[in-house]
Order: sequence, then structure tokens, then C-alpha cells
Amino acid sequence: MSTGKLIVITGPSGVGKGTIVRSLLASHSQLSLSISATTRKPRSGEIDGRDYYFVDRQKFEAMIDNDRLLEWAEYAGNYYGTPKDKVEETINLGKWILLEIELVGARAIKQIFPSSLRLFILPPSLTELERRLRSRGKDSEEVIIRRLARAKEEIAASQEFTHCITNDNLGKTIQEIEKLIFDCNI
Ligand code: 5GP
Repeated sequence: MSTGKLIVITGPSGVGKGTIVRSLLASHSQLSLSISATTRKPRSGEIDGRDYYFVDRQKFEAMIDNDRLLEWAEYAGNYYGTPKDKVEETINLGKWILLEIELVGARAIKQIFPSSLRLFILPPSLTELERRLRSRGKDSEEVIIRRLARAKEEIAASQEFTHCITNDNLGKTIQEIEKLIFDCNI
């Protein structure tokens, strides 16, 4: 591989990954984001090609068969995957790319890019995570329950990551991540 940096951000649903990623992208023009493909339906306000590439299962399975995904996983009943092209292109140009993905995908990336910076964002507590998931009002009760169950599994694996950061204060969390990204030499 080249001089580009690959940065993985993982953490349970509701921990604040999206807000963290948006803030990093807004402040650092050298960072870009990999846009994932998913079979999940768009939430209100989400735009195809900006938030995700929203595809049906048939199209997603064709992407798997045609080796167009760097990694993919099933999460709470839907497929999610990272298109290969943009990641390879960005890294080959020596630029930095962020992947906001779940645990199974992060494990795959560890195998493919062992020198990637893999950050796990922890909630202050499970109770606080549940409160955040409910208060954002994006998901049905059934989905919230599945996401909380998955959160426990993910948190149990957090030590597999190069760094764990507890998101108890957004500003502090972002500063910590900036320090890790810009001080690291991978
Ligand atoms: P959400 O439905 O809340 O947007 O995302 C659900 C989970 O899927 C989140 O943990 C998110 O990080 C993860 N995710 C999003 N894109 C990808 C991807 O391309 N690959 C993998 N493995 N997980 C993803």
C-alpha cells in the first residue's frame, strides 16, 4: 500500500459516530469519507449517494459476487458494505479515508490493512446509550432492541481496536481523535 491512511471508526449504534465523523470532515479537508452501500431504507433526510448508496438485496448481492466490496456485513437485518473503488483510489493517491463501519467489517479491514488506525467509540454507559437511541427517535422498538443487543457484543470486542475512546463529551472526543489521527504515523 502507499502513504494514504485508512481510519476505521466503529462503535455501537447511537454512540455518536455520525456526529464525530461529520465534525472531522468539516474541519479537515484532507479527510474523506467512504460512502457505504446498504439495503436499509433511507431515513428521513438521508440522501442516496451522500449518506449511503441505497440498493436492494439483489443489487447488493451482485456487488458481493462481482467483488466490488472491500468488506460487508449483515447488521440488524440489513446488508452494509464498503465499495472497493473509492478506498483503493484514495489510498493510492496518498490521501486519508474514513470508514464508519460495524465490528464484522472492522475485523475484515484489520486483516486487509493491518496498519490501519481502528478507533472504537464507547458510550459512557449502556443506560446512556439506550437513552440516546430512544431520544433520536429514528428507529422502531424492535430495531432499538436489536441494536442494543448488538451494542453489547461490539463493546465486548472493543479491545481488538487500536484505540478506545469514551464519548462522554463530544468536543473532548473529537480532540482525542484528532490527536490520534494527526499524530499517528501509519
Ligand atoms: P445505520 O443503519 O445506523 O446507518 O448503520 C448501522 C451500522 O452499520 C453502524 O454501526 C454503521 O457503522 C455500520 N455500517 C455502515 N456502513 C457500513 C459498511 O460499509 N460496512 C459495515 N461493515 N458496516 C457499516
